Amino acid sequence: MAAEATVMHLLKSGDHVISGDDIYGGTHRLFQNVMQDFGLEFTFLRMDGREAIERAIKPNTKMLWLETPSNPLLNIVDLEMAADVAKKHNLMTVIDNTFATPYFLRPIEYGIDLVVHSTTKYLNGHCDVVGGAVVTTTDELTEKVQFLLNSMGTCASPFDCWLVIRGIETLPVRMNRHEENASAVANFLVGHPSVNRVFYPGLKSHPGHEIAKRQMRGFGGMVSFESKGGMEAVGRFIRRIKLFAPAESLGGTASLAEHPATMSHAAMPKEHREQVGITDGIIRLSVGLENIDDLIDDLRHALEPG
Ligand SMILES: *Cc1c(COP(=O)(O)O)cnc(C)c1O
Repeated sequence: MAAEATVMHLLKSGDHVISGDDIYGGTHRLFQNVMQDFGLEFTFLRMDGREAIERAIKPNTKMLWLETPSNPLLNIVDLEMAADVAKKHNLMTVIDNTFATPYFLRPIEYGIDLVVHSTTKYLNGHCDVVGGAVVTTTDELTEKVQFLLNSMGTCASPFDCWLVIRGIETLPVRMNRHEENASAVANFLVGHPSVNRVFYPGLKSHPGHEIAKRQMRGFGGMVSFESKGGMEAVGRFIRRIKLFAPAESLGGTASLAEHPATMSHAAMPKEHREQVGITDGIIRLSVGLENIDDLIDDLRHALEPG
């Protein structure tokens, strides 16, 4: 969040930002409940088409804020398209690349100006650091971001940086295993009688599959699904899981399960949540590095009806 807050300070009161509508709940809260009070204006929309973005552009629009795959629905934004629209209209593009990591997605190659990461997640990978990073593409942006880091004190401690650098050493190995396990979990959930829908960009049925296949080197370790039976089924699932820990956060070696409507996205107003499709039945899994048979056994047991 410090990385994101820093980037938002590149803007001035009166500027307008177009943001994806199904972004991380904390990012939505930063925009809606903090930055808006400083005079920034926001439009939230599904970034799935050039026309929708262009229609939202106003004379004071300065920034396009993207997240792909998004949290928790794992929607995919076509970065080449988004960067092209932004260049035509002179907008700064920022992407939150926390879910994909630089191992699976290299946004700067598609023309994105700034990349932010929660290093708390996959980059560190062991759930023992809270931190963030801003990746810049020009000397001018580097200078501005460094000035803000120094002025606002939004920088990470040396020890936390050391832990993240140590974590990055195993990033490729971890990401490959996260993806292998997530893909098996997604395929197990598809067609399970207690599951309505599965959200994983690696599934052919995912609306963003073709774009993801083109722009990413892998589909990542996050899987969301909508359980049948609403809140009651969610409660049962969360009480029953043993190997998946019921917790927010993601991207660590251990598998986690969480309920966006009451946890990661509780700060998002209910109407906004429903409008973007984060229903009460949705459960988000951060699939860890454990033995895949154990993970699937855990899910099978937790999803049994009654
Ligand atoms: C967790 C998360 C953040 C916020 O990161 P913190 O490390 O908790 O400050 C931002 N974006 C995404 C996509 C996240 O998952």
